[in-house]
Amino acid sequence: MRAVVVREHGGPETLRVTEVEPPRPRPGEVLIRVRATALNHLDTWVRRGVPGHRFPLPIIPGSDVVGVLEDGGVPGLSAGDEVVAAPFTSCGRCDECLRGEDVRCREYRILGESRDGGCAELVAVPATHVLPKPKGLSFRQAAASLLAPLTAYHMVHARAAVRSGERVLVTAAAGGVGSAAVQFAKRAGATVVAVVGSEAKRDAVTALGADQVVVVGRDADWEATLKAGLGRVSFEAVIDSVGAGAFQAGVKMLKPFGRFVTCGATAGAAPAIDLRRVFFLSLSVLGSTMGTRWELSQVLRMAAAGEYKPVIHAVLPLDRIADAHRMIEAREVVGKVVLEV
Ligand SMILES: [Zn+2]
Repeated sequence: MRAVVVREHGGPETLRVTEVEPPRPRPGEVLIRVRATALNHLDTWVRRGVPGHRFPLPIIPGSDVVGVLEDGGVPGLSAGDEVVAAPFTSCGRCDECLRGEDVRCREYRILGESRDGGCAELVAVPATHVLPKPKGLSFRQAAASLLAPLTAYHMVHARAAVRSGERVLVTAAAGGVGSAAVQFAKRAGATVVAVVGSEAKRDAVTALGADQVVVVGRDADWEATLKAGLGRVSFEAVIDSVGAGAFQAGVKMLKPFGRFVTCGATAGAAPAIDLRRVFFLSLSVLGSTMGTRWELSQVLRMAAAGEYKPVIHAVLPLDRIADAHRMIEAREVVGKVVLEV
């Protein structure tokens, strides 16, 4: 089959489609013939490598898999049915999995990061982690409704527990996670202030329902820029994937008992924090990674009902994966880049 294989870490030019042996499903696994896969920032980390972390190379990247069930093997579904794969695997048997807390499973792994993913014609995944694709969603829309919005859903609901009437700050709001977080926080009844990296992204995020949009350039001073744009405003919750200056400014803008939720640190992972502020104001700093199968089914249901709008920046053929990575790294993307296989 044709697949993109990361054999060693490097630049986008190292990515190309090659002919490899098709996967052999293990007991309990099924094959999906991939039709579309959406890229995430995670794909660029898998390609580039992360200091201090070892990826299991060679690996086929791609966490967001949508396609057609090859041979059946999933209760209630047959060969030829259109399906999505959860962007993660978990054991399905432990206490945490049984009570629907997949994220706490000791065997929680991300597809395309710990095991072969969707940048291929075929992928093997556990039958327990295959869901029917909602009929109203195209392959590309479904591919854009997986890892990123799942992450956002878990951050907004399970971690920040955003409630109606609260004020929420969402950073990187034009990105895959941010564009979904804006929509989920709005649906929860919050007032949403969105931060984007350039003026060109303002309209797209306003269209998603953001009440106010502030542009903070790549090397800008977050605190000064937010203060200039917003005045003396404070938030019950901050939904962030930027880290560094966004973290420092975000924590300073939290109300007493406010929650700062982080799922990434694209601008830097070691910001300074004044602990006096954290304990005097009873603030919470909450980490968040992906979500559960139940949350994924909620995201897909909302997408099918039009309650969540997947934002698609571009659709490219798998052969153009290097270009897709360059797009993401240039930070000019609004929403998801989807590859068709
Ligand atoms: Zn488990």
